[in-house]
Amino acid sequence: MAYNKVAFPPACLSTGMRKDGARQPALHVVFLKGTLFFPCEPDRGLVRVHELTPEKAGQLIWVRARIHTSRAKGKQCFLVLRQQQFNVQALVAVGERASKQMVKFAANINKESIVDVEAVVKKVEQTIESCSQQDVELHIERVGLSSALSDHTTDKQTDRHAHGGRTDGRATVNQDTRLDNRVIDLRTTTSQAIFRLQSRVCQLFRDTLTNKGFVEIQTPKIISAASEGGANVFTVSYFKTSAYLAQSPQLYKQMCICADFDKVFCVGPVFRAEDSNTHRHLTEFVGLDIELAFNYHYHEVIESITDTMVQIFKGLRDKFQTEIQTVGKQYPSEPFKFLEPTLRLEYSEGVAMLREAGVEMGDEEDLSTPNEKLLGRLVKEKYDTDFYVLDKYPLAVRPFYTMPDPNDKKYSNSYDMFMRGEEILSGAQRIHDAQLLTERAMHHNIDLEKIKSYIDSFRYGAPPHGGGGIGLERVCMLYLGLHNVRQTSMFPRDPKRLTP
Ligand code: ATP
Repeated sequence: MAYNKVAFPPACLSTGMRKDGARQPALHVVFLKGTLFFPCEPDRGLVRVHELTPEKAGQLIWVRARIHTSRAKGKQCFLVLRQQQFNVQALVAVGERASKQMVKFAANINKESIVDVEAVVKKVEQTIESCSQQDVELHIERVGLSSALSDHTTDKQTDRHAHGGRTDGRATVNQDTRLDNRVIDLRTTTSQAIFRLQSRVCQLFRDTLTNKGFVEIQTPKIISAASEGGANVFTVSYFKTSAYLAQSPQLYKQMCICADFDKVFCVGPVFRAEDSNTHRHLTEFVGLDIELAFNYHYHEVIESITDTMVQIFKGLRDKFQTEIQTVGKQYPSEPFKFLEPTLRLEYSEGVAMLREAGVEMGDEEDLSTPNEKLLGRLVKEKYDTDFYVLDKYPLAVRPFYTMPDPNDKKYSNSYDMFMRGEEILSGAQRIHDAQLLTERAMHHNIDLEKIKSYIDSFRYGAPPHGGGGIGLERVCMLYLGLHNVRQTSMFPRDPKRLTP
């Protein structure tokens, strides 16, 4: 590729003199497809922003970062340089090391441009509250553009996003604008922290279950019959016929248990054609699914799942404080609390607590979202935990494959798990007898022909088993105390949004 090399006016970059008084080599910039490219000296040894601590005071270092903010004042210009969820204050001041033109040049660089700066690390007397690197600042000696902001991106647009949705004047940006410009919004320190934490949740889920002897499986997402029954399924055209997008990996993970895999999990997309425009519903989300055979009682399944969740909470609490605090700066919330062992209440106990608080509801009625939240608050007050299990749901409100409670047919061996009073998991012991499964499917008006291979799997003998499905975005939203699941979905899909 032919670059159009031009000499950069040295005055814009530095005084042109090294500390030892020798003239420094001429610097060049390259115009590459309209952006300024500042060639990296191969031995430059770039330092990461989070490594800028008082131990580095006095060192001359190079940093490559985005311009987060810039404020010129007289003969100096204050910059905040940002790299993912970390930022540091930097100063260019007219003096021995910087010319007037260089200060002007620095002040005129568009925010969000990527710059290379050479600077001395200085310890500061007063903590810089607004930056992640609070004890040091950079005194810039050279600055060059590595990638300039393209001309048609307005400064205002990037300003509002990259500042966590706030300009210096603390204006807020509405969620749709942010999601329409998601790439810029994802650059904010808050988004960076959210999605690093989300990645860790998946890793902890995988590591914990793998250590427990689970096998990760992949299940098809294009299926011939709605896995959960019901209408909330997307139909797709499939050559000369039609197919559906899986509402969960439910039937397949159970078939893997019938195939003697014993303990399985999967992480993958789940599709719901629900016109639910709420803070916690997406039409595509990431399902963290678990299914396992048990020996004596389905509570073994509950324990296995709650222990996995506790390992995730501990992993985040112990290793992800930087991310948690970064998000907390923009969205303050109480630290997430959990008990060991996890609190397990029966559905009827939950209903009794709600009734005591004045709620009128029937024994077999499902929990509405407001009642779910109220119960979460009551549980927090009484037991001081943000995570609990509600066991033994009424059979009538659960899917066809749920095992009825052998002692009381009104109820079932099924459970939900809650974080900060909102559902994050639904699970149950599953029916492992083909005859009973057939009866229950018929009771739910499910076309048996469509789930024949699923039901047949149980005819060859299946161990007692159970499991659950968790929504990744909900776990991250509720762990961090956020209020909208779109904040924890990188490119959210909801009834009104299919782009970007
Ligand atoms: P809700 O009652 O909140 O609509 P659900 O009972 O339909 O949830 P399940 O089908 O049991 O949920 O799914 C298991 C888990 O998957 C839920 O606990 C939740 O964490 C997640 N989940 C379900 N539906 C959605 C959705 N539309 N968007 C995001 N996550 C979801």
